[in-house]
Amino acid sequence: MDPQLLDALRESISGKVVTATDSAYETLRKGIYKTGSPAAIVQCATDQDVGAAIRFARDNKLTLSVRSGGHSPAGQSTNDGGLVMDLSPLHTVEIVNAQQRIVRIGAGATWGQVAQALAPHGLLISSGDTKSVGVGGLTLGGGIGWLVRKHGLAIDNLQAAQLVLADGRSVRASQEEHPDLFWAIRGGGGNMGVAVWFEFVAQPYRSVIGGSITYDIAGLQDVLIGWSKYMRTAPEELTSTMLVLPAMGPNATPQMVLHACYAGDDETALQPLLQLGKVTAQEITKKPYADILSEAPHLSPNVQIHSRNGFLKQIDEKVIAALAAHYGRADSPVVQIRALGGAIKRVAAEDTAYAYRDYDAFILAAVFSPADAVKAQVQQKTEAAWQPLAPLVEGAYGNFLSDIDQASAAECYPPATYARLASIKATYDPENIFSQNVNIPPKQ
Ligand SMILES: Cc1cc2nc3c(=O)[nH]c(=O)nc-3n(C[C@H](O)[C@H](O)[C@H](O)COP(=O)(O)OP(=O)(O)OC[C@H]3O[C@@H](n4cnc5c(N)ncnc54)[C@H](O)[C@@H]3O)c2cc1C
Repeated sequence: MDPQLLDALRESISGKVVTATDSAYETLRKGIYKTGSPAAIVQCATDQDVGAAIRFARDNKLTLSVRSGGHSPAGQSTNDGGLVMDLSPLHTVEIVNAQQRIVRIGAGATWGQVAQALAPHGLLISSGDTKSVGVGGLTLGGGIGWLVRKHGLAIDNLQAAQLVLADGRSVRASQEEHPDLFWAIRGGGGNMGVAVWFEFVAQPYRSVIGGSITYDIAGLQDVLIGWSKYMRTAPEELTSTMLVLPAMGPNATPQMVLHACYAGDDETALQPLLQLGKVTAQEITKKPYADILSEAPHLSPNVQIHSRNGFLKQIDEKVIAALAAHYGRADSPVVQIRALGGAIKRVAAEDTAYAYRDYDAFILAAVFSPADAVKAQVQQKTEAAWQPLAPLVEGAYGNFLSDIDQASAAECYPPATYARLASIKATYDPENIFSQNVNIPPKQ
């Protein structure tokens, strides 16, 4: 990359331009799942900086990766030889209307930062389950969090966003302004532009009740039957996620752990979950919302993770039979089942680009392989691990895709939603400048 071009970029922005000779490069070139070797990283502090970085990437034909929190499971928020746009300097959390609980959040904030900033005001935003996940990536893909059954996805609490488009314009998207764009960014990922900030409606809570319950894995089938039955009638304040784990270390055994969160004060609400099977450990307490968010798991550099996912109409007997027969073994994949329903279903599928709404659960199976394993073998292992569940699911959730190609991107949307996204993409990003995402090529 011509240093003079980078100097010109440096002079035109208020943020920093970091290259391999800078000490910050080593940290900034990494997403949590991939270490890249970009030609430069532009740390954007304003939407003008974002516009300048987009123009620079376009004029110099550089691959452009956009990074908020860096948690892309596909490693798309860094690259080799291209430009990385780091939005972490845009992390302010500002209450713009206390009465209506409207909060403006920079796309580069993490959900942990948001929870900490809103706690003193007795507010929270239904988001994800992990502190270090970024507001930008999670929101644009949908956002399934601890209050999802009561208050919907993160996007269901979104009322506007500011985006910088492929042509450098900075626009506000809402129901009134660029409504097509507003529809598309609620589930369509980073396809349409770079989100600089979002305006959410926060919910008033001081604390939640939650934590984890570990069951004796010998009762896997019965616990799943009881859990799925209970979640069908449970109060919407209760959200829970079941993990069926293999042996996670040399001396470990398979485990079955339920994480649950109840958005309210009723200490008895989680009692039925303690009756589902033999409980070997539990940690359920009243806590500030920020404390129910977890740290991202530490990933060894010697390991790569690939996963498949989809939505379940119901956690029915076929699903439970498949889980009991194939998972919870020493060497089986990690399986995560998130109970959905409630508020997600009350938004019509056609109202947002996130369209797989009429489902009771989301399921994901993740396979760990050595970092140096051959791609074809890893793919084969992942497909084999997913095979018992594949016929039982519909669609996929783009935010958790570890391997993104045209086919997996298409799985994330019903055909009519995909076609609408492709048309809107043709309006806002006809050259597909924003391609490092769950990519929807512009309609020709
Ligand atoms: C440990 C872990 C826990 C997770 N937990 C949850 C969860 O509870 N619920 C849930 O719904 N998801 C969850 N996810 C998935 C998560 O929502 C996605 O990985 C999301 O993309 C991460 O956002 P990020 O900003 O941290 O990632 P980044 O890697 O920074 O971004 C991911 C992609 O999003 C796009 N993007 C990011 N920011 C912008 C922006 N400002 N403008 C335009 N495009 C942008 C880019 O295409 C980028 O490649 C989790 C992921 C991990 C790794």
